Amino acid sequence: MNASIDAKRTVAELKELRSLTSDENGAQRVAFTETWLRARAWLRAKLEGLPVEIHVDEAGNLWTTLKGRSERALLIGGHMDSVPNGGWLDGCLNVLAGVGILRRISAQFGGEPPVTIRLVDWADEEGARFGKSLFGSSACSGTLDMDEARALRDRDGVRLPDALKAIGVDFEGVKKCGRELKNAAAYLELHIEQGPVLLDLGLPLGAVLGTFGVERHAITFRGQAAHSGSTPMNRRRDAFLAAARMGPEIYRIAEREGGVCTIGSCTTKPGIVTSVVEECRITLDQRHLDGAALARMLLAAREAAGRFAGEGNVSVSWERIWQIDPVLFDTGLIALCEESIRETCGSVHRLPSGPLHDAAEVARAGVPTVMMFVQSLHGISHNKIEDTREEHLELCVRAFDGLATRAMDWISGGR
Ligand SMILES: [Zn+2]
Repeated sequence: MNASIDAKRTVAELKELRSLTSDENGAQRVAFTETWLRARAWLRAKLEGLPVEIHVDEAGNLWTTLKGRSERALLIGGHMDSVPNGGWLDGCLNVLAGVGILRRISAQFGGEPPVTIRLVDWADEEGARFGKSLFGSSACSGTLDMDEARALRDRDGVRLPDALKAIGVDFEGVKKCGRELKNAAAYLELHIEQGPVLLDLGLPLGAVLGTFGVERHAITFRGQAAHSGSTPMNRRRDAFLAAARMGPEIYRIAEREGGVCTIGSCTTKPGIVTSVVEECRITLDQRHLDGAALARMLLAAREAAGRFAGEGNVSVSWERIWQIDPVLFDTGLIALCEESIRETCGSVHRLPSGPLHDAAEVARAGVPTVMMFVQSLHGISHNKIEDTREEHLELCVRAFDGLATRAMDWISGGR
């Protein structure tokens, strides 16, 4: 029997989840809260009746396993958690499409497919409460910085290890869940794009090449405070002027290299209306899919900052806030993803992901990985107005199911 996926049912379940876990301000499935636990209990109820094994691992990730004839496993992932006042699709679309695929494959193969199929609901992807995203997946991949995570506190001063204890998770043991990846042969994740690229192209679906590398720095220019009335313009050592010239410069750098650059913050000292700025601190966030291009963007920004400082007779210093290398997805799986999208809706676009996703962590752990994006109306996410056309939701579920079939064959074929 060749069963087909019931995409309309997935859309109906997304609406059901929305009515259960959202209020007038949007989705409220913040990790480790009452509402998140309710969403997970609802998810478990949806899996009832399937011949699957369900357990929570050491980091709080929820695994659902449909055992196949081979132990080699196809992993499908997503996250039930949301930011506060979040959208209705971010994360749970991935999980519920996975539930639909489990049902379809179980029906088609009489409960025993050729390879094992596992659905994972990652714990605290968003990092909304403790300011650290990808908690469950980075514990699983082994990249979680334990010292940094141990010291995290929420707004009320509650430590992450204590919040975890409340849901039965022992912080010091979270990395043990890495063994879940033992037989992982491929990892697939469907996600709403969260940007306007597919919308602007008029395409419903895209194959994701990888996630951007990020360089995040604070740049501080130091000059001299001076009276705003008595200091002639040619005698000033104006820290703000040098910093402000970085504004247009980063647009030129981003355009030249094809990446994105953002100055997200600017603070001045003494910060009063009657003084030339003595000290100006800006933050710079640069992202690119190509590591060499990212390095060139950083170098160009450093050169420009040095030049502007010299011309303005001020000094400049840099401090790295955070950095991550680009994560490239598997070329074989990207090709299968494109094939499936083309079969479902005719045309396909390849694009990088600006935001990080759990998929990046799984790829970093060495598991061949790919993501599929569905168009985001308004190009907006992490907001209650996040939306996708219903026909596009159905298309993405069908295309993602087609990708799962191809990935199973790919695994069975020993690729
Ligand atoms: Zn997400």
